[in-house]
Amino acid sequence: MAHVPESLKKYVCVHCSVTHAGTPIHLDGGEHSFEPPESCGACGGSEFVPASEWIHHHK
Ligand SMILES: [Zn+2]
Repeated sequence: MAHVPESLKKYVCVHCSVTHAGTPIHLDGGEHSFEPPESCGACGGSEFVPASEWIHHHK
């Protein structure tokens, strides 16, 4: 049975506020993490903040 991540981490583009799903990265020991996308599909920006931190980041 495949391991299903308990929650999919999301990242918000700091330039246009579009939300992107993080890319799951498998680590040693069965752990997993997420990486933001390389670039925003909407504006081409490359700066992201985790969605959970967006409300704090927002100016
Ligand atoms: Zn963007």
